[in-house]
Amino acid sequence: VTGNVHEPRNYEVLIGTPMDELLKLATPHPDTDGIIMGGPMMGFLVPQPDVPVVKATNCLIAHSDRLFPPKAPEMPCIRCGSCAQACPHELQPFEMYWFSRAKNFGKTQEYHIFDCIECGCCSFVCPSRIPLVQYFRFAKSEIWAREREKNAADQAKERFEFKQLREEREKAEKAEKLAKAAAAQAAKKAAEAAAAAAAGDTAATSPQAADAPAIDAEKAARQAAIQAAMERAKAQREAAQPKNTDNLTPDQQQAAAEIEARRAAARLAVPEAPANEKSE
Ligand code: SF4
Ligand code: SF4
Repeated sequence: VTGNVHEPRNYEVLIGTPMDELLKLATPHPDTDGIIMGGPMMGFLVPQPDVPVVKATNCLIAHSDRLFPPKAPEMPCIRCGSCAQACPHELQPFEMYWFSRAKNFGKTQEYHIFDCIECGCCSFVCPSRIPLVQYFRFAKSEIWAREREKNAADQAKERFEFKQLREEREKAEKAEKLAKAAAAQAAKKAAEAAAAAAAGDTAATSPQAADAPAIDAEKAARQAAIQAAMERAKAQREAAQPKNTDNLTPDQQQAAAEIEARRAAARLAVPEAPANEKSE
């Protein structure tokens, strides 16, 4: 812990320790107004003082305007080349800056932006006070985000194509099964027809046609039995109820004969009415 404090020193603390508690151990000056995590060139102000110490925390600097006066406003690049001379990786920061600002990330990769170790030397020497490292970080994060999106799209496309392939394969397998079943059924029918033809039994080829005569015969037998039963019942009824023409006296028999004779004569005289008039 260093910077705007009375007792700068090293501390061995647990990960998760709040930074403001750590800063209190070093006795900060009253004008301390923030904490920088990292070095004076690469470090950045933490958003609030009670954030925890993490694995990447190597240095805390107590911030004050006296130690870190506000930066002068950024000016346009004059292509002086100072940044390129200061770069330990012999990159061309002003070119990478230009293409990062234009969001031409492909070009930044052509200028080997991922070889930049973000040391901050180029920003430090820049007479135009351009925060070059911030531009490079922005370009790198955008490239990573686009690569993640592209990978996700490629995976989705691959899954979709595999699904289509699987559906087509399942359809083909189903069609093949149906064709095999139909062929087996046709072969079975052909074998049965051949067997029936060989035996000379044409009814065997149509079981329903063979059953039809048997059903008709059964029906006729049932009707004949009903008719016979009705005849027997009628005879029994007639035997049980004697006619009123039985046991007549000779006079009655003669009167009945005369009546029958007149009826016969009347039937001969009057022509028989048509069937439809009878029904009326
Ligand atoms: S040092 Fe700054 S002004 Fe000079 S070329 Fe690099 S970015 Fe441009
Ligand atoms: S921050 Fe990157 S480009 Fe700038 S001097 Fe360091 S390595 Fe070179």
